[in-house]
Amino acid sequence: SDHSLIYPPTPEQMDWASLYPHYAVEEPIEQKTEATESEETTGQELSAPAIRKLTKNVEVADIGCGFGGLLIALAPVLPETLVLGLEIRVSVTQFVEDRIKALRVQNEEQKLYRNIAVLRANTMKFMPNFFNKGQLNKIFICFPDPHFKARKHKQRIVSTTLNSEYAYVLRPGGIVYTITDVPDLHEWMVGHFNAHPAFERVSEEEQEADPLVEIMRNETEEGKKVTRHNGQKHVALFRRLEDPQWP
Ligand code: SAM
Repeated sequence: SDHSLIYPPTPEQMDWASLYPHYAVEEPIEQKTEATESEETTGQELSAPAIRKLTKNVEVADIGCGFGGLLIALAPVLPETLVLGLEIRVSVTQFVEDRIKALRVQNEEQKLYRNIAVLRANTMKFMPNFFNKGQLNKIFICFPDPHFKARKHKQRIVSTTLNSEYAYVLRPGGIVYTITDVPDLHEWMVGHFNAHPAFERVSEEEQEADPLVEIMRNETEEGKKVTRHNGQKHVALFRRLEDPQWP
């Protein structure tokens, strides 16, 4: 349950350095004068306690990343970008973590897979604890659980309330990518994003020109399963609009 999930009070208090160790830099914590004095008296350099910060922030999130196929496919395509998968299931998160660790070791020389990581989290809660306002430029929602029954619809990860959270963490111009094989869920997602004042649907032409769409169609584990069963894949992209300017 959520009781065992740990959330940072703010994004700054999150230990990002352990997720992306290759992007971490030591930042010495400001020292009081005693340290300087003892340095003078002993003539030795003291190693100051340091906090590890990242040289850049996460900009792409994969919500409900499952077994991590999309993350792994995106790693070499977005080599300058930090990509984070969020997954609620403990064993699945552990699997993805181990998978990324192994890939980093196997590709040490090419320095690949250092820009992707996974985090166990319930994305229906506390997204703003992990990401600052306008921090992300892409959010992927791939084959979310359909929760078919009407009384379960409130568990869907696209809703008016959650769309406001996605709008908060996305910068204007940022894109939400959605895909599902369930027509009813596709209609639901399109309906909720279209109705939200912070989003507009991306045209089909622009959608199909985006190389990440093809990756999303083919590289997630769920997407591969749908291909094997000759299922349909419904794609929709939504752009985060500028906030209205008040006169
Ligand atoms: N995106 C992956 C893919 O396309 O292969 C996985 C799709 S799977 C059908 C849906 C995933 O979302 C599951 O792994 C599930 O555990 C995860 N999930 C469901 N609700 C979630 C939540 N509130 N927060 C984080 N992950 C969630």
